[in-house]
Amino acid sequence: MRYAALASGSKGNCHALTDGQRTLLVDAGISLKQIRARLTALDWDPGTVQGVAFTHEHSDHIAAAPVLLRNTAWTFLATRETLAAIQAIHGIEIPASRVVLLRAGHATDWNGARVLPFAIPHDASDPVAYRVEWQGHAVAVVTDLGQPTALVADHCAGLDLLALEANHDVEMLRNGDYPPSLKARILSRVGHLSNESMGELLAQVLSPRLRTVVLAHLSEQNNDPDLARFTASEVLKHTTITLLLASQQMPLRVAPLGE
Ligand SMILES: [Zn+2]
Ligand SMILES: [Zn+2]
Repeated sequence: MRYAALASGSKGNCHALTDGQRTLLVDAGISLKQIRARLTALDWDPGTVQGVAFTHEHSDHIAAAPVLLRNTAWTFLATRETLAAIQAIHGIEIPASRVVLLRAGHATDWNGARVLPFAIPHDASDPVAYRVEWQGHAVAVVTDLGQPTALVADHCAGLDLLALEANHDVEMLRNGDYPPSLKARILSRVGHLSNESMGELLAQVLSPRLRTVVLAHLSEQNNDPDLARFTASEVLKHTTITLLLASQQMPLRVAPLGE
């Protein structure tokens, strides 16, 4: 399995996983044009994409859904509640033939990939993160969560690669320009993961198998990539784990797992 971060941040999220023949996206918060361009930039064939698994219905994760419905034959993987929310928000009807319904805590086979959505604390109807096992490797994409929970840590055990939210530095957010209500939302237990909480979670899921950590969903206003990187590198300092940062503007190339 290979992983890439096509885009990550409040202006749009999209992660990609492939076995070389088939590609599964996690979220589609950037345009179809951008998805194709960014895959191509990484030398991935956009024609291999066959599905997109949605984490929750916030626009930075589902913006492309109507275009994907019209202009691709991709399968939509989502929980019942998230699927209903996507349809309501965009005013679209996704035919059952295009849907694989998921349930948090239950694994589904998708073209040989074991796709396991698990519940995360976030202010959406049924938000999930994903653990995907494919070709003997395990990857998790964990963003948009207000706090690290034991359930999240359990699902991040024994990974080869973890893409983990490092949304904000608490002091930068507190002292920044966001309105108080938005600050409160982000800081809440169903908001976004701070650098500090990211570090706590990372420390809990270190294992000899973990080779790569990708920090994701960094706030452009309320975080500094150096702060996020420093927090993670403190946790990783006695390991040989590769630390990378996903970007809003460009796709992140990641070495194939197991190399
Ligand atoms: Zn988001
Ligand atoms: Zn969200």
